[in-house]
Amino acid sequence: MSTLWQNALLIAQDDEHGSTPFRADVRIDGDRITAVDAPYAPTSALAGDADAPRSIVDATHLLITPGLVNAHTHSWEILVRGTSDPLPLEIWTLLSYPPTGVEPLPERLIYLRTMVAAIESLLGGTTALLDDVGELPDQSPSTIAQVYAAYDAAGIRATCTGVGIDVPIVDRLPFADEVLPAEILRASRESMPPSADVQDAYFGFCAAARALTTGRPRLRFAVAPSAPQRVTDELLVRAAAEARAEGEVLHLHLLETRAQQTLARTRYAGRTIVEHLDELGVLGPNVTLAHGIWLTAGDLELIAASGATVVHNPLSNLKLGSGVLGWRALHDAGVRVALGTDGASSNDTMRMLDVVKATAGLHTLTDPDYRTWPTVDEVLHAATVAGARAAGWGDEVGSIAPGRKADLVLYDLTAGTAFTPLNDAAQQLVFAENGSSIHQVWVDGRLVVEDGRCTRIDADALLAEFREAAGVYLAEALPRWRAFQSEMEPFVREAYLRATASEGHENEEDHR
Ligand SMILES: [Zn+2]
Repeated sequence: MSTLWQNALLIAQDDEHGSTPFRADVRIDGDRITAVDAPYAPTSALAGDADAPRSIVDATHLLITPGLVNAHTHSWEILVRGTSDPLPLEIWTLLSYPPTGVEPLPERLIYLRTMVAAIESLLGGTTALLDDVGELPDQSPSTIAQVYAAYDAAGIRATCTGVGIDVPIVDRLPFADEVLPAEILRASRESMPPSADVQDAYFGFCAAARALTTGRPRLRFAVAPSAPQRVTDELLVRAAAEARAEGEVLHLHLLETRAQQTLARTRYAGRTIVEHLDELGVLGPNVTLAHGIWLTAGDLELIAASGATVVHNPLSNLKLGSGVLGWRALHDAGVRVALGTDGASSNDTMRMLDVVKATAGLHTLTDPDYRTWPTVDEVLHAATVAGARAAGWGDEVGSIAPGRKADLVLYDLTAGTAFTPLNDAAQQLVFAENGSSIHQVWVDGRLVVEDGRCTRIDADALLAEFREAAGVYLAEALPRWRAFQSEMEPFVREAYLRATASEGHENEEDHR
């Protein structure tokens, strides 16, 4: 199937134009973009197999952009969106992820939950996401098979992880031995199996999950030791070696909160986490680091030299009070920055255009020198080109150029008010558009959204089924999670307050 859009307004994010809009014809054949030509280039551009189905569209009223890439999210949290006010990560986690001993989710509920993530993403112009799935209490080949099945059916491009954690929950908190009762410490430590057993289970799972992507061109697997403070060095090094050998993304959370920075100072005496990761040989161009808020200037140099990507999640960081990433310092150091929504209960949506706008605005608060503020070009680059790299698609997606995958969003410039009057499509995309002008979304050369509806699934039926099934599950599960959070909150609060009050935090001016 070939499609030719004539005289479209393009934001191509290619090397030549960046985010500067220009008029062009765009042609796709199969799953690829095959031509970007001057407007009304001879329709012989569609020559080739004369019998091939083809369509030619007058796109004068359309803005065509690369699909947005959500480089860090957790579809798991769809289940618990809207369950809490803003809270620090350490306390929020107690409710958003279930305590040990709960029943696993029914597999159909995993499928439906993932479907909500796919629908919300696609309708908002996101064509690819990196889903750090976080299946608890237990992940297995059959649970991630449900995740893949949902993304496959909806037609989105997805890189999915399984999460490896072999450090007991109490030992991921600073001051744990001082603030937690001995009984809780003992129970938590005893509940964590030996690291060797966790590793065997985890890497076995990775092999099975990886195999499930075979022959499915829009699905990939990524190795995800959750965060340096949640895993042993042995697991981390093995994960890094495996990701490198398989040509996969290695996905980590990194220095999201001050409490994590405090913990790091006790765990890696005299060094930062990033220095430790560098010494272990974990960093590299395939590494995607979510958050990266509490970094030193030296950390930025190491990350930049490694070619790793930092994923900025401004709305999650605001809701969890995590801090503000050093946007200008990262860019000045040469660190690649992508954007993510983070999970659906720390944001609580997967709408990337919200993140794009928040990014463009947030960093005006931290430095009065307006010359350091994010530019629209930087923000759109982060949401497309850099995101594609972060999610493991290299240069295949993220821009509109011949040879790239046909992952496209078509906005109708005349459908609503966001592009009226049309002054600068890139500025208006970042600051005025909220997704309501989206006419079509294409992934891998296939039409997946048209005029507000997913074309490959019955979204209404799936959402209705999810509302019912989620309601049944949560009626039983959520009170138990809330009880766990209430029980633990006083102790975790004490650790959090001590950490945020303690001396010696890296100077915030350092990275802004
Ligand atoms: Zn996260």
